Amino acid sequence: MKTRLHQPTPAALRRLAAALRRGELAAIPTETVYGLAANALDARACRKIFTAKRRPANDPLIVHVPTLTAAEQLAEFNAVARILARKFWPGPLTLVLPKKRRVPGIVTSGQTTVALRSPAHPLARRLLRLARVPLAAPSANPFGYVSPTTAEHVLAGLGGRIPHVLDGGPCPVGVESTIVDATDPHRLVILRPGVVSSRDLRAALARAGRRATVGSRPREQVLAPGLLDQHYSPHTPFSLVARLPRFPPKNTGLIRWKRPARGGARAGEFWLSTRGTAAEAARRLYAVLRAADAGGFGLIVCEKAPGRAGALGEAINDRLKRAAGKRARR
Ligand code: AMP
Ligand code: MG
Repeated sequence: MKTRLHQPTPAALRRLAAALRRGELAAIPTETVYGLAANALDARACRKIFTAKRRPANDPLIVHVPTLTAAEQLAEFNAVARILARKFWPGPLTLVLPKKRRVPGIVTSGQTTVALRSPAHPLARRLLRLARVPLAAPSANPFGYVSPTTAEHVLAGLGGRIPHVLDGGPCPVGVESTIVDATDPHRLVILRPGVVSSRDLRAALARAGRRATVGSRPREQVLAPGLLDQHYSPHTPFSLVARLPRFPPKNTGLIRWKRPARGGARAGEFWLSTRGTAAEAARRLYAVLRAADAGGFGLIVCEKAPGRAGALGEAINDRLKRAAGKRARR
């Protein structure tokens, strides 16, 4: 299959929206990472996502919607979920809620809940409006590999396997959305950390006069494979450490949290941020992992985000741990 790379002209967006309505796949930019989109109401179109990504059928998809109103046609919202959607949408928060019948079982891997998000990226929003259907879109990469944050990353992983890629430049956030199970309005559960933190969630609810506990799910209970212990992984053996070794083994790629104060790049050295901010490290994370993976090293050693990097640092460490992780026992 030939993969076409589209620049975001009005005509191209109209063509892509029509292709999505017809049941074709298109990789599209969002503020988090590039998503591989299909009409979420079309089970056959959604099946193509699993085939193209070689994604196991038991790993459910996130459905993207333009508005809360559109989301309410797909899931049963409670008052707490509505408060969160009004506060954080459009943006990098995904809500897991009881699904309505219209959502095909393949999207939710047969579960009774569906994951929903309204993306903030202007091109994703324009496509949602033009396509007039919700879009199921997991990250646009082969299953288990490092997520894509540029159109080039998408082409490198899925070129020849999908018909369309929309080039929207680099993704402004760079790590995947925070996923919150909101089926129980009294007990929210963070299934995947992201930019939106448990503190942000609590604060939004408090302002609206609501209280809910916000927990995170213990790893061993996690069944959704997006949360597998190994995910986001480079091909090169990868290890995550609190402090980089002064004398690393030969042929080792080193990823620092921050650019060293003095001296330029030594061969085999990378860094996630130049100034040490978490936002910059998140934006660059997957591009740096890919660059290190392409370096021909026998091992990549990466420094953890420091505690001061906050919620986004935790989200980065979550991805790095999984990049280094073993396959989950299931
Ligand atoms: P991706 O879009 O590739 O980052 O993956 C989406 C992830 O969202 C999945 O791997 C799951 O971990 C999570 N997810 C999607 N739907 C559900 C659901 N109904 N319940 C729990 N987690 C979900
Ligand atoms: Mg993914």
